[in-house]
Amino acid sequence: MSLAVQIRQHGGPEELQLVDVTVGAPGPGEVRIRHHAIGLNFIDVYHRTGLYPLTMPATIGMEGAGVIEAVGEGVTHLQVGDRAAYASNPPGAYCEVRVMPAKCVCKLPDAISFETGAAMMLKGLTAQYLLKKTLPVQGLQPGDFVLFHAAAGGVGLIACQWARALGLQLIATAGTDAKCQLALANGAAHAINYQTEDFAARVKDITGGQGVKVVYDSVGKDTWDKSLECLRPFGLMASFGNASGPVPPFAPGSLGAKGSLYVTRQTLFTHITTRESTQAMADELFAVVASGQVQIHIAQRYPLADVQQAHRDLEARKTTGSTLLTL
Ligand code: NDP
Repeated sequence: MSLAVQIRQHGGPEELQLVDVTVGAPGPGEVRIRHHAIGLNFIDVYHRTGLYPLTMPATIGMEGAGVIEAVGEGVTHLQVGDRAAYASNPPGAYCEVRVMPAKCVCKLPDAISFETGAAMMLKGLTAQYLLKKTLPVQGLQPGDFVLFHAAAGGVGLIACQWARALGLQLIATAGTDAKCQLALANGAAHAINYQTEDFAARVKDITGGQGVKVVYDSVGKDTWDKSLECLRPFGLMASFGNASGPVPPFAPGSLGAKGSLYVTRQTLFTHITTRESTQAMADELFAVVASGQVQIHIAQRYPLADVQQAHRDLEARKTTGSTLLTL
């Protein structure tokens, strides 16, 4: 038997219950991994509440690191005893041991600890595709302005540092002055407290009236309208989350009036459908982390048994950087 966190129905943090489970052998294309650390992500909240519905009972969580205990038929890139880390679809990371598709799992370089691996895979691969794969037509050039909301969070602090490494001028938003300082310390060129300031007006000031090439928006409902005002003509609105609630329906015609804007709604799991694409993106992440260009800030740790409190703090905007569930 081993421990897992299960929900039996969608709802509040109180639905997260520790249970004993039996974990079997991996089937073809699967591995069994024993976690050393588990990453907490805002998508776990969407899975818990039912914004992204799951079949019940469910174990949520999409990020972890540990040691491979067993390898199913046909898996060649992992062996028993390997240190490994992953961002997974389907969820199921809130547990001591899990069986999962091997194609999601990458060997962890020796230079990267289990905790760092568990704190960065889903968040870091997200920062990677947002900054490097989401603007295929025009591309981003050094010196370009981009706007990144919730920049002191898990994905945000990685994106600030990676953007600096790419020579981008990342304008950060965050909900407190202290979070703004954190974003600046991690490479943001400018920071705006969007709880107290009109971020669209500040972006216009900072960019000399031009606007930014891309807005990366994971906040959703609360920031959508003003984010569109921040874009320069032909700019890209890259929506990738709904921390404040889903974006309401909008009229595509308004994109023309605002300057022939593009809109995309991206999800990491379209980028990592194959073992090859996952490994290629992970290799880039491992390289920027191993080089020190991007540091993974683990600002909160909670024992797995305290997962309810971890969810309360994440939803109450009390966290910064990455959060781990420890075993
Ligand atoms: P964060 O650590 O960034 O936490 C979410 C942050 O959102 C909060 O700290 C808060 O920062 C901000 N926020 C703004 N409004 C609200 C609100 N009403 N309630 C709660 N938080 C709010 O989380 P993650 O790093 O795990 O994820 C960041 C975002 O990226 C999430 O929306 C997540 O779903 C999305 N994501 C999307 C992926 C994709 O591929 N589409 C993959 C990974 C993540 P502040 O106080 O500064 O406003």
